[in-house]
Amino acid sequence: MFFVPSHSGPATGVTSTVMLMTTSASVPTGPEGAVATDDTVIDRLVEANGQYAAAFTDPGMDARPVLQVAIVACMDARLDLHAALGLELGDCHTIRNAGGAVTDDVIRSLTISQRALGTRSVILIHHTGCGLESLTEDFRQELEAEVGQRPAWAVEAFRDVDQDVRQSMQRVRTNPFLLHTGDVRGFVFDVKSGLLREIDPA
Ligand SMILES: [Zn+2]
Repeated sequence: MFFVPSHSGPATGVTSTVMLMTTSASVPTGPEGAVATDDTVIDRLVEANGQYAAAFTDPGMDARPVLQVAIVACMDARLDLHAALGLELGDCHTIRNAGGAVTDDVIRSLTISQRALGTRSVILIHHTGCGLESLTEDFRQELEAEVGQRPAWAVEAFRDVDQDVRQSMQRVRTNPFLLHTGDVRGFVFDVKSGLLREIDPA
């Protein structure tokens, strides 16, 4: 089985930003795409964007999330928030970092989300098999030993994912900058089953 590439130009990375008419997603990545072996992963993403934009129509939305909800979640690659929660374009804010930790910067985003863009509910999503379960705060000391500078941020490592979700809910609920803290719920996403398990805040 083979595919005939649908574009004829050279797929060099520097020119791929204008390759809007490429139609086959298999061209740059498969072994048959030998012409594109110099492409970096980012080149391929930019090319995919050209295809996305070619089919894109302006949804005519403003910036306020339709469902008035903000999601704080781990950055884990196995967690597809829109698919897992049945979300559509424009429905929600998604705020992601390592662990889905409620850091000062997440509070910054939530504060703007609620006070400037009208969201009222917060859902926190951590997951099974998180990379932060295998780290400790020693990570900061190791960094300091290596580079001569201790990071200002906490690693936010944890051992008990349920407890970490509870702590995250507590940080949101007690934050003075937020307008809406009455509808805050926390979950653990199972990366094997795709199912959310709600965590009792008590
Ligand atoms: Zn994670």
